[in-house]
Amino acid sequence: MANHVFGRGAGPLPTAARGDGCYIIDANGRTYLDGSGGAAVSCLGHSDESVRAAVHRQLDQIAFAHTGFFTSDAAEALADKLIAHAPDGIDRVYLLSGGSEAVEAAIKLARQYTLEIGQPQRHKLIARRQSYHGNTLGALAAGGNAWRREKYAPLLIETHHIDPCFEYHFRHDGESLEDYGRRAAQALEDEILRLGPDSVLAFMAEPVVGATAGAVPSEGAYFKHVREICDRYGVLLILDEVMCGMGRTGSLFACEQDGIAPDIVTIAKGLGAGYASIGAMLCSATIYDAITQGSGSFQHGHTYHGHPLAAAAGHAVLERIVDDGLLAQVQDRGDTLVHALRSRFGQHPHVGDIRGRGLFRAIELVEDRTTKSSFDPNRKLHAKVKKAAMAEGLICYPAGGTVDGRLGDHVLLAPPFIITEDQIEELTDKLSRALDTAMAA
Ligand code: PMP
Repeated sequence: MANHVFGRGAGPLPTAARGDGCYIIDANGRTYLDGSGGAAVSCLGHSDESVRAAVHRQLDQIAFAHTGFFTSDAAEALADKLIAHAPDGIDRVYLLSGGSEAVEAAIKLARQYTLEIGQPQRHKLIARRQSYHGNTLGALAAGGNAWRREKYAPLLIETHHIDPCFEYHFRHDGESLEDYGRRAAQALEDEILRLGPDSVLAFMAEPVVGATAGAVPSEGAYFKHVREICDRYGVLLILDEVMCGMGRTGSLFACEQDGIAPDIVTIAKGLGAGYASIGAMLCSATIYDAITQGSGSFQHGHTYHGHPLAAAAGHAVLERIVDDGLLAQVQDRGDTLVHALRSRFGQHPHVGDIRGRGLFRAIELVEDRTTKSSFDPNRKLHAKVKKAAMAEGLICYPAGGTVDGRLGDHVLLAPPFIITEDQIEELTDKLSRALDTAMAA
């Protein structure tokens, strides 16, 4: 077949031919254990019967009807179910086609809300350095990954980045987790005061940081402090749960574990579980009401938003996660995974940190465990790990990344929620061999 598709993978890639539970089988019959769901997408594995059946049923009814003219049972059912399980105060759903679209919509909704309430001077966005919010221009501006932003910097909207809550790199010796969480949140208040509280639109953060830092949860009461600070200055709190949401950390929304509710939250990846491209932005009744009672409607839209086929997939995925006990399974298997990682890599001279929540875990690779110094980025260790893992028949999600030269290579693991204990063993065996190969290369 001619090779006309271009994408992100370097070099010739295997052709994914078939899915079977936690495995992808390529056109040559090679089998890969999906230890990261691609990029934390395939939470139900690759052959879930009920999601496939739901998509077929919807296709037989109607695949698409433009949301300018119609709603659909699929979209309404999905929105109802999301709201039934959403954090307090979250009351409305806007369906999109993926994570970046959801983040763009969140930024624009926040802006329109401040206009509706007569605060047009609010336009500054605060976000965190070790974060990824998507690749479209608004989302890219919000993200803190220097390498991804670099080429497009002149096109990006004004965003101010603060340090994340990342205890492995930023907690002082002897500082308690509580004190550290408070200090990390204080950076937000300091930045709001520096910018002028009346000019700040929103603070955006991933509750558990995914792609750019590798499964970094907050510590202490960080997000409770953040919530209080946002409320104190009338700044909207936007949580990006595109990667960590939809059960990945063991609760449907990751922020449940932080005991807070946002004003706006974005989800994607696990919502479609790879069976459809779908994302969503959810917001509070306060925001929605201000807009409907003001201009009447949110001034935004895409041709494919609320796509019935995607919504049917999302609804079936949500049923599987919420109604089939998968949240408890994520907690249980997450414990198994972290124990397996600790027993395999806890003493490894180049594994500095093993972290995460639920089935959202990562190991960080360091040159020296005492100083936590990272490997030379030019060595591209993360790319070598990815290649060696593929050769072992394992899909994992390694990445490099530096923040002030601190964060180095890490390997993100986000296996399907249906992973078995034996497959967790297989995952750690293969990862261990891949690390040895990559280190030796
Ligand atoms: N936000 C977060 C937290 C993400 O991890 C990602 C994707 N890695 C996005 C937004 C963008 O999502 P998408 O790739 O579906 O546009």
